[in-house]
Amino acid sequence: QPQIILLKEGTEASQGRSQIISNINACQAIVDCVRTTLGPRGMDKLMVEAQGKATISNDGATIMKLLDVVHPAAKTLVDIAKSQDAEVGDGTTSVVILAGEFLKQMKPFVEEGVHSQIIIRGVRRATQLAVQFINEIAVKPKKDDEAELRQLLEKCAATAMGSKLINQQKDFFSKMVVEAVLMLDDLLPLNMIGIKKVSGGALEDTLLVAGVAFKKTFSYAGFEMQPKQYTDPKIALLNIELELKAERDNAEVRLENVEEYQKVVDAEWTILYDKLAKIHSSGAKVVLSKLPIGDVATQYFADRDMFCAGRVPDEDLKRTMKACGGSILTTVADLDDSVLGTCQHFEESQIGGDRFNLFKGCPQAKTCTIIIRGGAEQFMEETERSLHDAIMIVRRAKKNDAVVAGGGAIEMELSKHLREISRTIAGKEQMLISAIARALEVIPRQLCDNAGFDSTNILNKLRQKHAQGNRWMGVDILNEDVADNMEKCVWEPSLVKINALSAASEATCLILSVDETIKNPKSGEGPAPPGRGRR
Ligand code: ADP
Ligand code: MG
Repeated sequence: QPQIILLKEGTEASQGRSQIISNINACQAIVDCVRTTLGPRGMDKLMVEAQGKATISNDGATIMKLLDVVHPAAKTLVDIAKSQDAEVGDGTTSVVILAGEFLKQMKPFVEEGVHSQIIIRGVRRATQLAVQFINEIAVKPKKDDEAELRQLLEKCAATAMGSKLINQQKDFFSKMVVEAVLMLDDLLPLNMIGIKKVSGGALEDTLLVAGVAFKKTFSYAGFEMQPKQYTDPKIALLNIELELKAERDNAEVRLENVEEYQKVVDAEWTILYDKLAKIHSSGAKVVLSKLPIGDVATQYFADRDMFCAGRVPDEDLKRTMKACGGSILTTVADLDDSVLGTCQHFEESQIGGDRFNLFKGCPQAKTCTIIIRGGAEQFMEETERSLHDAIMIVRRAKKNDAVVAGGGAIEMELSKHLREISRTIAGKEQMLISAIARALEVIPRQLCDNAGFDSTNILNKLRQKHAQGNRWMGVDILNEDVADNMEKCVWEPSLVKINALSAASEATCLILSVDETIKNPKSGEGPAPPGRGRR
């Protein structure tokens, strides 16, 4: 009988139950990388990329992104961490650990030969029950009270930052983050909070600017003579080069005499002066351009008491436009009030070693900028990521204000709830749901392990307390004990937990449903293909 060749030589294919198990093992290995970063006592990771760039982080999503995972199934975990990051911003470590534990608990069922579809159905059912239950028990503080809302938001922010490098300053930063988010308009657009880093100074020197701020751009002579402060200035936002163009190196212009050459040069100047005059006559006091503003233009503006900045980064220019109104122009032909922005106060001021352009009191969109100060570059980067987590959490909490208690409290309560329900279900689903209930305990257990506590002891205490109806009992990180985390103000938006659970369960189902991997041979490996040409 002739052999049928279906796939290219060098293709790896593996299938069946052993394939699922090997995928689960791969995921376990990834989870082991991040598990020690969970919680307030979690450790940080230092990662060095191929180019030698070092990153220190405690953020699950950042770590997963940098891990450069090649295993196809384990990549799923990277994806859920990313999606958790994009969707709610916090809980990225939790989601990976949960998914890993779900898989671990499902492994014995796979080994015993329970069909994947049955396991998947069980996992989905358990998740659904858990999400329903979170919605039932989540606490909704009153929203109409401004002070109470602010307090709620600050507590959520503090919990999100409690596990980060900046946890010593979390009170300082949680106030700042809440302040920043409350400045935004109702849609709470994330890109309206700019984050800038200036090295030097202490973390507590970090400041919040109500408006747009960006670093002074490269400037030419004449800049010193420009005023650096305006009240109610008109702002022109341009995408125009205000510079004398250098002649092209390889262009050929044939001229008969010197006068003709002079005409060419004059034309260049006329074009530039024409543009500058139009800008001046429009009444604009501050001129920002994405493209360079040369020395002639700088001098011209200086003589007329105007301020200019060229090479403004795209994102800053856009934020200024959103904040101050007006539009970014590519021509000066019709420069009038309808396309000029404005703000209450503009100034250039010194922050640390850098000079900053500050636009305050912007009429259009509400926007703000956080300027992070601190020592090492990596430290400031991690601070930025931590602030991002906190900002996301505050946004979420403001939109959807139900909270649950963290520190493993909600997980223990869910675990108890699922265990109770599983007893009322007959069949294999009973085992599966109670396995998921067991898996949920991984969060408090890991929090204990990371803090160096006796996890078995604390988990037993927690189970007992929850059985007695103490719903919000969780790990007390400070006293190596259990405590009511609702009272202790370790709060998390319920949405974070719901999203983490659903994402972890989806990832579990996905990995369980893959029973065959076929890997094409990498190009460049194996025998060279016939034919000519470079490879
Ligand atoms: P993630 O990336 O999942 O947010 P974190 O490292 O931020 O990971 O850890 C979050 C976990 O730490 C949550 O389960 C949260 O409830 C818990 N946690 C945060 N602050 C405290 C605290 N003060 N006491 C106990 N647990 C806490
Ligand atoms: Mg967190």
